[in-house]
Amino acid sequence: MELRTIADLEKVQDVTPFHRNLLGVVEDLKEFLRWKNANQDWKFQFGIEIGGHRASNVFHPSSAGKACDLAVQLERTGAEQTAEDWDSVITFDTGHLWHKWVQACLTEMYGQDFQYEVRIRNDSPPVAGSADGVITLSDLRAVIEIKTAKDGDGPKNFAAARNGPFDEHVRQVTPYMSRLDVPLALFLYFNKNEPGIIAHVITYDERVWQAIVDRWNKIDALIAKGQEAEHKSSFLCKWCSYRGVCKYSGDKSNATKVRRI
Ligand code: SF4
Repeated sequence: MELRTIADLEKVQDVTPFHRNLLGVVEDLKEFLRWKNANQDWKFQFGIEIGGHRASNVFHPSSAGKACDLAVQLERTGAEQTAEDWDSVITFDTGHLWHKWVQACLTEMYGQDFQYEVRIRNDSPPVAGSADGVITLSDLRAVIEIKTAKDGDGPKNFAAARNGPFDEHVRQVTPYMSRLDVPLALFLYFNKNEPGIIAHVITYDERVWQAIVDRWNKIDALIAKGQEAEHKSSFLCKWCSYRGVCKYSGDKSNATKVRRI
């Protein structure tokens, strides 16, 4: 029995099995997202690159925002990462798509004066990553950092972003400002629930950069001594790429190991 046309409805007595089959697409999609995340260096591509190569055995600017020293140490030592479960993948890929949309708009608006995914690669301290963008106007250069936030009660909800960029985001963007020699950063917080943008500008602060470098040096010294950095387990462990290898992470039921190249 088939249900390919409206006329077929007259021949089908019970549509329930067809509904069930169709809903199977959702389960297949979840499986596909898990597989894609675990097996491909490049994440989703809808004609555009999303995510991409991530250098290993270095500090990544995003780690400057992490609260857990152990997670930063595991990143630095190239520990095996855990594939995100499908709902995390959807969250991350939605965020990546948002980035691409804003980057595409800014490219159309500013042409050569806006560069996106601007790479940094530095040996001392060993840090590598890509800034969302760098914009050059007639009298200034600024890093552009794109963020998404939701309405709700969480500590990083959209309304909370009105008070200024979150500290961890300032720490994330500072390595780009330092290594690219850019004195300003523009944060764009987009509301995922409804149209809305909150913008903040910050000025480079050498003290923030030094605090980041000091922390990384401390973690490198621990690695040299074969000692484990302090861990800070929290609800954030659910999102930690190293929960598969971390003995403090609690639930590992979704921790499929993946080695990103
Ligand atoms: S799982 Fe939690 S405690 Fe372990 S490294 Fe990650 S954030 Fe730290």
